[in-house]
Amino acid sequence: MFKAILIEGSRADQQVALKSVDEAQLPEGDVTVEVAYSTLNYKDALAITGRAPIAKSYPMVPGIDLAGVVTESANPDFKAGDEVVLNGWGVGEKHWGGLAQKARLSGDWLIPLPSAFTARQAMAIGTAGYTAMLCVIALEKHGVTPDSGDILVTGATGGVGSVAVAVLAKLGYSVTAVTGRREEEAYLKSLGASQILDRAELSEPGKPLTRESWAGAIDVAGGQVLANVCAGMKYQGVVAACGLAAGMDFPATVAPFILRGVTLCGIDSVMAPKTERLYAWERLAQDLSTELLDDMMTEVPFDDAIEAASRLMDGKIRGRIVVPVAG
Ligand code: NDP
Repeated sequence: MFKAILIEGSRADQQVALKSVDEAQLPEGDVTVEVAYSTLNYKDALAITGRAPIAKSYPMVPGIDLAGVVTESANPDFKAGDEVVLNGWGVGEKHWGGLAQKARLSGDWLIPLPSAFTARQAMAIGTAGYTAMLCVIALEKHGVTPDSGDILVTGATGGVGSVAVAVLAKLGYSVTAVTGRREEEAYLKSLGASQILDRAELSEPGKPLTRESWAGAIDVAGGQVLANVCAGMKYQGVVAACGLAAGMDFPATVAPFILRGVTLCGIDSVMAPKTERLYAWERLAQDLSTELLDDMMTEVPFDDAIEAASRLMDGKIRGRIVVPVAG
């Protein structure tokens, strides 16, 4: 038996609890992992609170991230004793996830734990941090450099935002951090933000084009915020859009794209090819100070993870949540 958070019932009426589960119930897969740490991402909180249809079947174990040790493997790339990390691939949505002491999944979804990080640090980064790195790489790919100008990061005190601010600052960019939590100004400055912008300034419907302010942007908000971000980009600025914390809609005009040559890059971490994942993790090892990780994360006991999901949804968590799941 092992402990897992189980989402049971149905979309209309789901129940969530930490339960004892029989190993025989583990799903199909060629690798079995003893999970040491998992995390709570925005998507996990949506799944646990039932605020969005993340669980695609029931019962489901949430947790889009895990770090642990392989106990059994029929996959040629992994053997018992290997330390591994998993992000995404529909795990915690369509396939039982990481908020459990054991997971069985496809070895093709796993990557080796990067030598620069402990399992706990890898989960302090998690999908949110790896997505932040994918966003930074997208800006670079489209020619943005520290000399291009200021970079805007929305949802800056959240998981993606915190890692994005820290990585960009370490790379020498001047970062404007957008937040609804002015009281976290000192935290954002400690990560390397040069300026703080109140979220309210980007939340209301605005003009199709505003003052040219940013050379690049990483947006976790979507909705009106993303529309206003695009409107305020410099000529040939680049926006990496990865989230929907403000909404799924995009009430924008084409003006920034056809009059300023702005590029809008969509970022998906879930199905990103393995080569891109490995490169993102390599870059995190190089461009993220591990000393900042402690300040960015809160460790939540496995027993309290369900309750913490509601706090995350209510915007009451700063940075990342790490969940030690080992018994
Ligand atoms: P967090 O909950 O950690 O952070 C989200 C942050 O967004 C909050 O901390 C808050 O920051 C800000 N925010 C909340 N509500 C609003 C609002 N109405 N308008 C503007 N900003 C708001 O989540 P994550 O960082 O883990 O994820 C952020 C987003 O990115 C989510 O939508 C998530 O689904 C998405 N995501 C997408 C991935 C992909 O593959 N595309 C992968 C990972 C995440 P503050 O208080 O500082 O303003």
